[in-house]
Amino acid sequence: MTMLEPCQTSYDLAARRAEFPILHQQVHGRPLVYLDNAATSQKPQAVIDCLQHYYSQDNANVHRGVHCLSERATAAYEAARDRVRAFIHADRREEIVFVRGTTEAINLVAQSYLRPRLQPDDEILISTLEHHSNIVPWQILCRQTGARLRVIEISDAGEIDQASFQRLLGPRTKLLAVGHVSNALGTINPVAEMIEQAHTQGVPVLVDGAQAVPHLAVDVQQLDADFYAFSGHKVYGPTGIGVLYAKQALLEAMEPYQGGGDMISKVTFEHTDYNQLPYRFEAGTPNIAGAIGLAAALDYVDAIGLAAIAAHEQQLLEYGSDALQRVPGLRLIGTARQKAGILSFVMEQAHPHDISTVLDQFGVAIRAGHHCTMPLMQRLGLPATARASLALYNGPDDIDALVAGLQQVCRLFGDR
Ligand code: PMP
Repeated sequence: MTMLEPCQTSYDLAARRAEFPILHQQVHGRPLVYLDNAATSQKPQAVIDCLQHYYSQDNANVHRGVHCLSERATAAYEAARDRVRAFIHADRREEIVFVRGTTEAINLVAQSYLRPRLQPDDEILISTLEHHSNIVPWQILCRQTGARLRVIEISDAGEIDQASFQRLLGPRTKLLAVGHVSNALGTINPVAEMIEQAHTQGVPVLVDGAQAVPHLAVDVQQLDADFYAFSGHKVYGPTGIGVLYAKQALLEAMEPYQGGGDMISKVTFEHTDYNQLPYRFEAGTPNIAGAIGLAAALDYVDAIGLAAIAAHEQQLLEYGSDALQRVPGLRLIGTARQKAGILSFVMEQAHPHDISTVLDQFGVAIRAGHHCTMPLMQRLGLPATARASLALYNGPDDIDALVAGLQQVCRLFGDR
């Protein structure tokens, strides 16, 4: 097989790559090719420097201290909230709740928003594409309340079946919870249209934006999302920090998720008055460094521009799809018309785990498995896929290294 010509692009890939120190190493004697970005993305020097600065200059607990370091830490933590608000175009800073990640955000909505509002036989609507973190919290809730989980079907290409959505959306539906971008297949779901439809029936919508925020410009007001969740570590920020956006009126009507310090305004043994928004939902010492590091990551992404990142990644996705389809015995899984950042595939010759083990020997990091989407794998009739996932620092040379490794898989495993 001949290698394809590199993409023609004005995007300064070399400059981007230089900003990520972890990429400049060898793995098994080969230059590292990191294509596991949907699991977690690497961190630019700006984020690493920001964390280093925070812990070496400003570290203190927030909100409670009057000393200088506490004031600095509080100012930086609250500035991070403003940064997130601007990044996702929320109306108000009160609508930005810092959480551990997408998983915690969804659990928060399940327990604080939906649980008190559910009756037996009410329905929660999700799609077949969902990550376990947008399935299991609703199942727990169904067990707690007697409500039912309903699942929108998908096509073989991995697109949400809109007719199935129309059929299932009904008077019993109390929430629609849907991913913006599928982590297993890369499908970009038409969430704006789905939100509009759900709202015509008075159904609020939670969008799992974990895989969207690194690749697409997100405007929660334009989408009219009621809840929008994402994780810092997938958008070049630290682990252990994420965001729940929720419309203020919804947050105001919700009970706290956890009790503890910072979420109160007055406590007696008889009674507690809760703090104002958003602190009511941030019990305990938050991930201060994480929030500040996330703000640095969002600054970094904005400086490049999500439009430039999306255009680059889209070009790379096309290049990668073409290149992979030329590998003998390889089948792409997930061929939706609108996709972001993901190349999932299987090979006749080898199991996905064998593929990724061989690739690792070439310094190429991909993921193999069910990608926390076991029900989706069942729907597709597959135990697992191999998944290469893209970030702003990947280029055609990374795809070429992937393809070279896959050719080795063909040689090693031969025809089956
Ligand atoms: N939803 C999607 C679509 C994801 O890709 C992920 C992470 N793989 C999650 C939710 C969960 O994110 P986290 O583990 O950061 O909470």
